[in-house]
Amino acid sequence: MATPFAPSELFSRLVVTEDDIQRRVGELGAAIAVDHRASDLRLVTVLRGGVFFLADLCRAIDLPLQVDFLAVSSYAGDAPGRVRVVKDLDDAIAGANVIVVEDIIDTGLTLNYILNNLRARQPATLEVCTMFDKDIRRIVDLPITYRGFSIPDRYVVGYGLDHAGRFRNLGYIAEMSREVTGL
Ligand code: 5GP
Repeated sequence: MATPFAPSELFSRLVVTEDDIQRRVGELGAAIAVDHRASDLRLVTVLRGGVFFLADLCRAIDLPLQVDFLAVSSYAGDAPGRVRVVKDLDDAIAGANVIVVEDIIDTGLTLNYILNNLRARQPATLEVCTMFDKDIRRIVDLPITYRGFSIPDRYVVGYGLDHAGRFRNLGYIAEMSREVTGL
């Protein structure tokens, strides 16, 4: 598929190809469908990055299900991982089988906060499905049931992940050149 950018100038390394991502989406969707037959399945994602994975994943799950969205924002200068819900779910999740769909988990602090918030609403089950996992960076232990790829501790963009709001629409993930990020 054509890319809208000149990857060689912006990116130092392709980390996961579009083909590999799409193959893994199919495998995760099939596994979720087997595990969640006859359940009130809700896929919940965090705006904005998770939307791209959610859109692919829900079409790979051959079951009736619902999707819902929340948005969070970090408190500037506050304790890391303390976030505030700026857009809540539209529907109640009490008694439902909820899977939080994430693009990437890094330290896990943000997701830990979100899981605690959702757990208080008493879903029947609460699981996590992440496409990318920087597990080496994890600070808190999280119940990750479905994982696409474990990736190295590098700043990546694509497949929902951005740099200054851009590059979410790449079908693959790539490491950004240091000249671009300044990191
Ligand atoms: P955590 O609370 O797990 O440390 O942070 C997770 C969030 O950090 C992700 O939802 C994502 O927004 C951001 N993040 C972590 N690693 C990367 C990365 O390699 N690239 C981009 N674009 N965002 C990242």
